[in-house]
Amino acid sequence: MFSLSDEHKMIQSAARDFAQKEIVPVAAEFDESGEFPHETVKKMGALGFMGLEIPEQYGGAGMDTLAYVLALEEICKADASHGVIMSVNNSLYCHGIMKFGTEEQKKRFVTPIASGKAVGAYTLTEPQSGSDAGTMKSRAIRDGEHYILNGRKSWVTSGPVADYFVVFMMGDPAKRQKGVSAFVVEGNTPGLIRGKKEPKLGIRASATSELIFEDCRVPVENRLGEEGEGFKIAMT
Ligand SMILES: Cc1cc2nc3c(=O)[nH]c(=O)nc-3n(C[C@H](O)[C@H](O)[C@H](O)COP(=O)(O)OP(=O)(O)OC[C@H]3O[C@@H](n4cnc5c(N)ncnc54)[C@H](O)[C@@H]3O)c2cc1C
Repeated sequence: MFSLSDEHKMIQSAARDFAQKEIVPVAAEFDESGEFPHETVKKMGALGFMGLEIPEQYGGAGMDTLAYVLALEEICKADASHGVIMSVNNSLYCHGIMKFGTEEQKKRFVTPIASGKAVGAYTLTEPQSGSDAGTMKSRAIRDGEHYILNGRKSWVTSGPVADYFVVFMMGDPAKRQKGVSAFVVEGNTPGLIRGKKEPKLGIRASATSELIFEDCRVPVENRLGEEGEGFKIAMT
């Protein structure tokens, strides 16, 4: 029979305690106002919940996938918004960088997110394309030691507040999925414009918005993996 280890029981119980004491009392208020719950998210980071599977040297808790799922389940039980923010930071944002990033990229772009000091986001979807990313309209054109990004992304979880974005752009449309490349873009990069916030029926404290790229110059060292590996990274 399967049973949880002491370590797994400990993380489950820590997440349950935190969720019931800190999230439940404020969840309805944040859901109604649609404000991002910065304070509880910071506290979750301090407890290691924003990078549960990330090794400690990159700011995470160094635990396994089961620990992540057990903690996420307790947070989601209290409030889906906190759960979505947590899952985007842990998996959508961090996984691709951990698997395809260089040592320097992991240190620079994972550490602030996994430690909960910053918020990460993942931008694949566009107004005309979701998981069928080979049809995306956004473009990354190489210009010397930079790429120039242009296009529009939609439904970006944490888009209005994120400090770092993993961004997927098409380099060569003829190659469809194999023409997509991935980049990490810092939130204050000129040419990255946060668009309108989506009015949702629920999960409202997890802010979702459009993101517009207008001649946004990103250094080559911010590309994850090789050119054309973006779709693989997106599906990691
Ligand atoms: C609250 C919320 C938060 C979100 N947050 C994010 C976010 O942070 N980042 C982000 O990028 N997006 C985000 N999204 C967008 C979400 O990921 C997309 O809406 C989702 O991918 C659906 O895309 P789709 O419409 O293409 O449908 P899908 O479900 O992806 O596709 C529709 C169907 O077409 C099939 N299909 C796909 N491609 C092909 C193909 N080539 N050939 C044949 N069949 C195919 C699929 O298998 C599926 O059955 C969010 C959406 C919501 C509602």
